[in-house]
Amino acid sequence: MFYQCPKCKKVWQYPIGKCPDCFLNLERIISEKIKVIGVSKVTIPTVLHPKAPYFVLALEDEHNNRWIEKSSQEYKIGDEFKREKMRNKAGVAILRVKYDIASAVEEIIQLINGIKFNSESKILILPTLISPQHPYFAQNTNPEILDALIKYLIRIGVKSSNIKVAAQSFDEIPIEASAQKSLLLKVCLENKITPLDLAKTTFLNKGKEGIIFKIAEEVFNNDIIINLPILKLDSKFKVKGALTNILKFLKKESYFSLKYLHDDFKIIERLQEVLPEYLTIGDGITVQKTTGHTSFVGLILASFNPSHLDRVFAEIAMAKDLPDYLKKININEIPIFGRKIEEVQYDIEGVGSSTR
Ligand SMILES: [Zn+2]
Repeated sequence: MFYQCPKCKKVWQYPIGKCPDCFLNLERIISEKIKVIGVSKVTIPTVLHPKAPYFVLALEDEHNNRWIEKSSQEYKIGDEFKREKMRNKAGVAILRVKYDIASAVEEIIQLINGIKFNSESKILILPTLISPQHPYFAQNTNPEILDALIKYLIRIGVKSSNIKVAAQSFDEIPIEASAQKSLLLKVCLENKITPLDLAKTTFLNKGKEGIIFKIAEEVFNNDIIINLPILKLDSKFKVKGALTNILKFLKKESYFSLKYLHDDFKIIERLQEVLPEYLTIGDGITVQKTTGHTSFVGLILASFNPSHLDRVFAEIAMAKDLPDYLKKININEIPIFGRKIEEVQYDIEGVGSSTR
């Protein structure tokens, strides 16, 4: 996405907001027809680009805007560059995001291609909100992603009064403190969205074969559920992301009594069987490693299959010794859309704080 000043017609590739010369709000330019105008082949692998050869494409859209992109697929000069839309709900979409989070969120929802929003759609969003920490620490979902998602939904006609952002504290820290410090509360208020503390709502019993979950009734009262976790590397789960975040739809006390009887992996796996379909958009922009340090990874992932999303992220991060529920998924059988795994893969845990 490009941004243009309506007066002086200067163009930026990043949403800088206002033109620094004219002080006017920039207008969005959407690239619809993209052509390859240059190709170079890179044959030497590096730490951040371990799979070689790959191609660096120079691209140009119908407005003469130009940019470069990495590709594992070879193109010829003059070829049209097009991202294939997701045809299969088991698929995972991957996009690179550097500065323009808003356009990445918009583009990934369009790639996903499987949700029909309308003005009456009731939407429930579940970001990761686990600690009263500033976004810098990458503990909670990046507030810019939540903001971009809400603004996109409103732009395509969803009423702000039909959007809810849900959270729940599973420890002694009041959810309000986390919501405030993470800046997620600020995003809600600026967009006139009511934050929802799930602990104060009602829960329904759902389950089969011995495990009964108490799940927030809200999950069944909305048309579209969007799980919006931040993706992390973790010593126990290897990937903490889509599957662990969705546990926040459970009643706290019931979750802890289930944990007393069953291991976390089993709870995570069985919970999926009783939940309605939901979309996960994973925040992989800044990723926390098992050490607690962060690394700029610059990715956003989306899928209707949360296990597949976590599995793909594990593959991107080159995580080893995965828990069974991820290990049993054959990565080669997951349809991938947007960027290819090998284009974005690197050993996140193995490199120091990077600035890609
Ligand atoms: Zn201007």
